[in-house]
Order: sequence, then C-alpha cells, then structure tokens
Amino acid sequence: MTKVYTSGEVEVRALAGIDMTLHEGEMAVLLGPSGSGKSTLLNIIGGLDRASSGTVLFEGQDLTAYTDRQLTRYRRNHIGFVFQFYNLIPSLTAWENVSLVTEVARDPMKPEEALAMVDLGDRMSHFPAQLSGGEQQRVAIARAIAKRPDVLLCDEPTGALDSKTGVIVLEALARINAEFGTTTAIITHNAGIRKIAHRVFHFLDGEIAAMEVNAERIAPA
Ligand code: ADP
Ligand code: ADP
Repeated sequence: MTKVYTSGEVEVRALAGIDMTLHEGEMAVLLGPSGSGKSTLLNIIGGLDRASSGTVLFEGQDLTAYTDRQLTRYRRNHIGFVFQFYNLIPSLTAWENVSLVTEVARDPMKPEEALAMVDLGDRMSHFPAQLSGGEQQRVAIARAIAKRPDVLLCDEPTGALDSKTGVIVLEALARINAEFGTTTAIITHNAGIRKIAHRVFHFLDGEIAAMEVNAERIAPA
C-alpha cells in the first residue's frame, strides 16, 4: 500500500510501500522519526484517509473500494481513535463526555463501565478542567472504547504527558487490550511501551524498516 500527498505541483510520498498485518487482539506500536509515515498509516487503517495504491483489508473487505459513506460507517462501527489532545467538551462532565458516544453507538458499554476500565470510576462527575492531563486522556480513551470498537488507534496518546503519567495511560490501554481483545495500534515515544506491546514496527521514510517481537508478551496468533 502506498500514500502520496499532492498539493499543487508538489508530491510527498508519505508511505512508500507498506505490507503489514495487524493481528486480531494484538497490541502493536509504531515507532520512528517525525515524518516517517506513522500517522498517515493510522489514518488509513482508521478510514480517515485513503491509500493512493494497493489494498487495505479489514475482515476480508478492501477499504480502498469503499464509498465515503461506507468508510464513515466503517469508522463509526469498528474504529476507536485517541489523539494527543483529548478534545473533551469542557462544559460536560467525564460521564457526559463518554455518554455522547454511547447514546449513538449500536452496542455500547455504559459510560460508567468505560470509565471504570480506565480507573476513573471516582471521577465521573468531574469536568475536564478539574482533571489532570493523564485523567483527561483516560476519559478520551473511555470515550473511544465505549462503543466497543474492534480496533483502537492511538496517535501519540502520551505526547502531552510526562513519562510517568504516560505509562499509566499506556497501562490502561494494555488492560483494555487484554480484557476485551481490542486490536490496538499506538504511536508513542514513551519508553514504557516496550514492556507492554506485542510487536514494535520501526518506520523510516515511509517504510517499515524493522519489526521486533516482544518475547515477554505472548501475542495472540
Ligand atoms: P509521522 O506520523 O511519522 O510523523 P506523517 O504520517 O505525519 O509522519 O507524515 C509523513 C509525511 O507525509 C511527511 O513528509 C508529512 O509532511 C507528509 N504529510 C502528512 N500529512 C500530509 C498532508 N495532509 N498533506 C501533505 N503532506 C502530508
Ligand atoms: P461521522 O460524522 O460519520 O461520525 P466523523 O468525522 O465524526 O464521522 O469521524 C468518525 C470518527 O473519526 C470519530 O470517532 C471521530 O472522533 C474521529 N475523527 C475524525 N476526524 C477527526 C479529527 N480531525 N480529530 C479527531 N477525531 C477525528
């Protein structure tokens, strides 16, 4: 699969040829320098962007053949996103922020269930401004998992956090992965990820330059 961005005369080859499979239930990490194509790949997997050539398969279906409507439905039904910035609604409590998603999902958890998964059972009535950065990010994770997505895509979820708080956030993601078997892909520079991930993909210039398997974590087949 490749991705080329075109703006006017300028072409940027963001993904030069990626051949990668995320295994069901695994926790994968994408590492690599800025500009190496990690976000572009997550966005294509999540149906926020489209590949320029090749195929992108989800449960045997090729996303590249999807109409915009099909892609939107795919995102809504199957994908959870977590970004560096939490994008919580400041006038709503943690519980209410999560309930915005659970009200429209097909088979959601209760907001309190999702918040308990990220250890925020005692912060449900707090507003974002009353929560630390790590807690706000965990609310954002609760919001992303509340619809029970098949795949959780996290683009620098620890990017705005100090390294210790970042580890707490990564541990919450690992717990979700273990408990629900949610296939998870994370872009993070937090060193704590090495213990937690099943596999680490190293990106360089739009390609996967290396892949490591974590021998200490037994990956789902
Ligand atoms: P990473 O996530 O590893 O930092 P990105 O996927 O964000 O890398 O970017 C890969 C390359 O694609 C970079 O050269 C970047 O400048 C370029 N790029 C990313 N998004 C766009 C866009 N919307 N339009 C044009 N170029 C882009
Ligand atoms: P729809 O309106 O069909 O639900 P959205 O544009 O809201 O589609 O996007 C679907 C998913 O993608 C949502 O989970 C949303 O959070 C996420 N998403 C899309 N674009 C962005 C963005 N720029 N920043 C953060 N999340 C985004």
